[in-house]
Amino acid sequence: MNVSLFGSIGATLKTAQDAINVALESRDLIKNAAVVQQLSAAQHGVLSLTAQLFELQNKYLETAQELADLKKSLVQRNSYALFEISKGIFVYRLKVAGDTAGTEDPGSAEPEHYICQPCMDTKGVRAVLLRSANAFGFYSLNCPICDRKFATDEKTPRINLPPAPHDPFGRLR
Ligand SMILES: [Zn+2]
Repeated sequence: MNVSLFGSIGATLKTAQDAINVALESRDLIKNAAVVQQLSAAQHGVLSLTAQLFELQNKYLETAQELADLKKSLVQRNSYALFEISKGIFVYRLKVAGDTAGTEDPGSAEPEHYICQPCMDTKGVRAVLLRSANAFGFYSLNCPICDRKFATDEKTPRINLPPAPHDPFGRLR
């Protein structure tokens, strides 16, 4: 940015200082008016530079916050590993202690859970999958963010109804 602006402000201030020195020595009103003009120009330059510095400081703070968010997201992402929940169906599974594939992360103290792979990879969002049973008696893991359903091979337990009583003559109907 504005290395040249710094240079020009410095030159303006130097010129103004020189003019002030000359005016103080001579006590000439015309020279004093010129000094006031130079001081005004220098002051304008300093204000402009201050505004640019303030803008740069804001951009720096925004960039630092974005970097912190990205680092946090990366640490969070690295605590999961791709996992095939059923044939060809992939989710991310929280790495457990001792499961350090791909990172030096020692694992998490959180309970085992799965998160949505598309939400993590495309949006950087950690969406913990919720388990529910479908009408066919299988569990699926459902994303609360994108509504995807990840089929599992896990069946719901069968409910054992008592056997129907023997009724050869149909009297119990
Ligand atoms: Zn999702």
